[in-house]
Amino acid sequence: MEEQQPPANKSKPSSSSSRFRRVCVFCGSSPGKKAAYQLAAVQLGHQLVERGIDLVYGGGSVGLMGLISRAVHNGGGHVLGVVPKAVLPRELIGDTPGELKAVSGMHQRKAEMARNSDAFIALPGGYGTLEELLEVITWAQLGIHSKPVGLLNVDGYYDSLLSFVDKAVEEGFVTPAARHIVVAARTPHDLFAKLEDYVPVHDAAEPKLTWETTATTTCRRHSRAS
Ligand code: AMP
Repeated sequence: MEEQQPPANKSKPSSSSSRFRRVCVFCGSSPGKKAAYQLAAVQLGHQLVERGIDLVYGGGSVGLMGLISRAVHNGGGHVLGVVPKAVLPRELIGDTPGELKAVSGMHQRKAEMARNSDAFIALPGGYGTLEELLEVITWAQLGIHSKPVGLLNVDGYYDSLLSFVDKAVEEGFVTPAARHIVVAARTPHDLFAKLEDYVPVHDAAEPKLTWETTATTTCRRHSRAS
C-alpha cells in the first residue's frame, strides 16, 4: 500500500452537509474525444472536494481516471485507488495520487470499492466502466447493498444505455423497482442533488444477500443411492 499525502498547503475543506463520506467513481481509462467528458471528470472531482467527500476509484492515472483523481487530490480531498496486483506495476497504472490498495483480483477490486463507498457514480467510459456500473446495479437489485448509483450522462453519452434499460422494463426483464436504482443527470451538481434525495425501492420478494454468504456457501446435492 502506498500513501501520498495531499499537498501540505491545501487542507481538506470543511465537510458539507452531504450524506456521503466516500463515493466510488467508475470512468474511462481513456479521455474520450469530447472536451466535455474531460471537463465533467474535473468538475465531478471539484464537487467531491466541495462536499467533503472522499474519492474511491480503480487507481489509474490515465484518461478520465487520472483527471478526476488529480482534481480531488490537488483540491485536498482523499483518494483511494483499488488496484489488482496484476496491474500494479507502474507502467500499467502510472503515478496514482493518494492511497493505493492492492487486491488479489478484479472481483476483489469491485467488492473492495463497493465496501469502501456510500454511493457510486459512472462517468463516460468503455467496457470496464460499463462492467463495473452494471455489477453494482445488479448487486443493488439483489439487495446486496442499497447505495445509490448515479449515471453522469455527459452530453447524452448514456442516452442509448438508458433507452435500453427502459426497453428492458417494457419487455419484462427489469422490474420498475429495479429501474429506479439508476439515477441519471447531465451535470455533477444535478446528479448530487438527486443522489442526496435517493431512497431505495425494494421488491417485496427481494432477498437480503451479503458477499460473505454468497462467496463462501457451498451447495451440495445429495442423491439417494439406488
Ligand atoms: P474502461 O471504461 O474500459 O476504460 O475501463 C475503466 C474502468 O476499468 C475503471 O473504472 C477501472 O476500474 C478499470 N480500469 C481499466 N483500465 C485501467 C487502468 N489502466 N488502470 C486502472 N484501472 C483500469
